[in-house]
Formats: sequence, structure tokens, C-alpha cells
Amino acid sequence: MQGQSADAECSEEYYTTLVNREFRASASTRTYSAVRGGQAMAVKGADRSLGGTVHRQDCLCYRRNPSGSLYTTPEDLDAFRLECGRWRIRGVVTEMGLVPKTIGMRGGAAIFAAAFMLGGVSGGVAGQTTTGQTASGQKMVSHDPAEPLSGKLPVKIAARPTGRIARKTVDEKGMRSLISELVGCGTRLTLSSWDDPKRGAGCARDHIKARLDSISASTGGKLQVVVDKFEMTAERTGGKAVPLENVYGILPGTDEKLSKTIFVVSGHFDSMPSFKDIMDPTKDAPGADDDASGVAVSMECARLLSKYAQAHGGLRSTLLFAAVSGEEQGLLGSTHMVEWIKQQGYTVGGMLDDDIVGADMAPGAPHRVRLFSGNGDLDDADSPARELARAVEEIDGRTSVRMVFRQDRYGRGGDHYPFYKAGMPAVRFTEPLEDYNHEHQTPRTENGVEYGDYEKYLNFAFMGNVALDNAEALRELAMAPVPPTKSRLGGAVKPDAVVSWEAEDDAERTGFEILWRETTEARWQVFEFVEKAGETVLKSVSTDNHFFAVRAVGKNGARSIAAPTEMERRAPPGPTK
Ligand SMILES: [Zn+2]
Repeated sequence: MQGQSADAECSEEYYTTLVNREFRASASTRTYSAVRGGQAMAVKGADRSLGGTVHRQDCLCYRRNPSGSLYTTPEDLDAFRLECGRWRIRGVVTEMGLVPKTIGMRGGAAIFAAAFMLGGVSGGVAGQTTTGQTASGQKMVSHDPAEPLSGKLPVKIAARPTGRIARKTVDEKGMRSLISELVGCGTRLTLSSWDDPKRGAGCARDHIKARLDSISASTGGKLQVVVDKFEMTAERTGGKAVPLENVYGILPGTDEKLSKTIFVVSGHFDSMPSFKDIMDPTKDAPGADDDASGVAVSMECARLLSKYAQAHGGLRSTLLFAAVSGEEQGLLGSTHMVEWIKQQGYTVGGMLDDDIVGADMAPGAPHRVRLFSGNGDLDDADSPARELARAVEEIDGRTSVRMVFRQDRYGRGGDHYPFYKAGMPAVRFTEPLEDYNHEHQTPRTENGVEYGDYEKYLNFAFMGNVALDNAEALRELAMAPVPPTKSRLGGAVKPDAVVSWEAEDDAERTGFEILWRETTEARWQVFEFVEKAGETVLKSVSTDNHFFAVRAVGKNGARSIAAPTEMERRAPPGPTK
């Protein structure tokens, strides 16, 4: 589609409360820029701040376009004028939907973001928009009544926190050297030696502890290093109790109330040979990807955030950077960690499991990391895990994270699971497309095929991205107020929905965002901002056409994870038996 431009009359508040913005697309360079509030704002691929906040604002306006995409045809434009004639939109969009498939994810971030803002992409960067259709090729229908019926002003949306962790500060070399040390331990099978400094699980523990000690020493000593020793019994320990150890770096929160809320990032440092050898510590098990990579991500988060905390006077909530053992024997270390955290009196605000996050072998790498989240037991699939996944995606951006609405890969398990089963917000990061020749394989060559989980298959550019995604998510979550509690939806069989919730006092909170989404949508949008907890009536909004949630917003712009509303569910009347 070639460029079309349009002017439509628009009310004053659009300019003042939304964004005075102009999009331009250049056919020759395929770059976009925006003018925001009269100031030129370069929109480069590397600018990941375009992930959530900005497009949410635009959606409020563009949603009013009945075709779902901004003037793709003259007919759409006419409908658009009719529907939101009081808005003034200035824009020139060229080549919408012709985003080349060869553009790297990060390089294409701006294009993706711009395309999304204009409603042209729903399926991904490679989405092909055709005239009058959405990216998925589906013609959108526009004969639903608007809710609310009229007159609602756009929402004022606070900017996300400043001071994002820069990609260039991620130390890929440091991650590589830790993985080399761990692979150098030969095997890290949980049943191997905990005393031999050269080979086995104890060798790995020593390297991880040394890494955390050095981070602590170089960042003012706030990071506390703990080696947690315990015993566990499982089928894969031969049915007898065996010794295990986890290593933790704890960065205490600075806020009196929030310091008892803990955000966890974890990788497992144990490795295993092929399944037939799973009890055999004499077999090599390099485990570079599974899961020295996750340990390296967790430790890099410890370094980045300890540095950040030192420079900025700390983060509100406590952070736990974990490397656990016994994963391959049945999630033993993480199951124990859940108990350990409870015993220390913490509430888990969120848990990020990084397991198999080091390789990205498909052409076109680096790709997006996958982020798995389970449904929980709730009717509307809004589990704490799902809300954490949505929060992470919003912080890191859709071009960085690929949400998968599934607890884990089929037939697989991970250390987020014990947290998830306990009803906590816990998710799993895993590389885009796994190669099973390099996971859980005793190193060997068979029929010319090499098996084994070696460093040479890793992609450190990808792994550095994953470290950044984790670290930035942890940073913003640890800056945020606690989520609201008791969020409820009332107003069934009445014209207005009523959302209510409670929240503890928090001097650093500016208010709350009421979120909603179509029942078929994956992501929240901001419906309204309100300053105080209590009850808000959503005038002319049905309880039945959307899902609702509430989240807290800090003065610093950090958002808590969302607290979906629950409502009393009554079955319709039926025959008496
Ligand atoms: Zn693993």
C-alpha cells in the first residue's frame, strides 16, 4: 500500500492529553520517526521503550477506527472520519504491512511498534497487511456498540520508569566465562561430588559462589551470598535422601514495607547425561545450554542490578538471584527454595525461571525468547503467572519476548513449576527453538551426528538479550507498588460495571490503572486512571463484554502486576431435579 495521509478534525484534549504525533515512513530507508509534543523523537530499532506505554495511548484513539487499521482504504478513511470526526489525526503512513521478513527483531522494533500503533499488525513482525484487512487476513466487523457510549476522555498515562538498563552494559564475556567454568566441571549431576573442587556439583557451586562474592565486593557489599544446604529424596535419587545445595544472592529492598516482597530469578546449575545414564556421575554432562545459560543470566542480573542499586540508592523490593540444583532429579532445588523463601518471611512478587536460554540456532537469530505462563485454575485464564508474563512483555516489549500461554513445553518441567503450583506468579524463559541433540545428551558422535550440550552451540548475542529482558523486568517490578488486593467486578445485569479493590497505604504510589480487554484479546489496555482505592463506576460499560483488572502505579512510573477482578458467579436457573 502506498502512503495516504489524512487530516480529521479533533478536539483540543487530544493534543493536550494524548500525544501530538506524526508518523512518517520512508519507502527508501524503511525507518520511522515520530514527532511527540512538538519535539522530534527518533524511533530507532533499539528504542525498546516503545513496547507498552506509547502504543496503549494510541490504541485509545485508533480503536475508534472501525476497520481496525488506520485508513488502509478510502472507504475505511471515510468510516474513520465518521466514527471519530472530532479527533484530529495527522499522519502519513507509507508501506504499512510491507515490513520485510528479513528485518531482525531488534532492528525492526520501531517498524513493528509503529505498525502496531496503527493497528496494522496483530500476528507479528512479518504480518502482511492487505487492503482493508488485518495482518491475520481477517476482515474486521464494526457493528458492535461502543463502550462507554460517549464522551469518555482519553486516559492520562504515566511514563514508564526512566533509567532503563542499557543493552551495551550487559557483559556477554562475563556470562561466557562463567559458562566455561561450569562446563569445565565435567558433570554437575546432583548425585556427583559436592567436595571435589575440580569435578561435579561442588565445583559448580564454588564457581557460582565466587561470582556472587565478587559482584558483592565490587558493588558495595549489599548483595548477600548464601549457600543453602539441604537433603531431598526422589525417584531419581534412587529413593534415598541425598545432599543438595542452592546458591543465592540476595539484594535487600530498601522500602520498609516492600522489602518483604521478593522477586526471584533462577537458573539450575545441575546437569545430566542421557536418560539411560541419569544416575551416573562418571559420564560427562557439559550442560552449557541446560542450564549453565540460565545460571549465567541469573548471575548477570545480580551484577546489573547490584550496580544499579548501588548507583540509585537501591530498589524498593528484595531481589533473589538463584542458582539451584536437583532440577533434573525432579525440581528438587526449586521445591526447597519455595520453602526457604517462606521461612524467611518473604512474599513472592514474581519468579522468573531461566532454563535453556543460551542457544538460538535458527537462521535470522537473535530471535525473541519464549516466555511460558500457565492458566492457573481461574475461569478467565488470568492466573498470577499470566499477569506476570503480561507485565514482563509490557516492560521488555513485544519485539523482545514471545509470550506462550502454556505452563511449559509439552512433556517438560522447570523450576517455575513449584512456585506456580503454590499459586505464585512464576514464568519460564526458554530459547526460541530447541535442538534436542544438544540437551540431556551424553557427549558422543553417532552416524556422523554430534550429540552434547556444548558452549559452541550457544549464541551470546541472544543470551545477552535474555539477560537484559530479565534484568529490566526485575528492575521495574522491584520499583513498583504492591498489586491491589480483593479486586472485584460488580454490576451484573446493570448498565454500568463497577470495579472495586483495596490497597495498603503507599506514599510512593500515584494511583491505579483500571485495565480491560476484549475476552478474545491477550493483552490489557488501560481504561481509566484513578488516584484512590475503593470503587469506580465504569459508565455504560457492560460487565459481560470485557475482562477487567486493576494495577498500582508508582510515582516513578513502575506498575505492579495486574490483579484481575473476580465476581460472584451464579449459575442461570434450570429445571429442578
Ligand atoms: Zn533445564
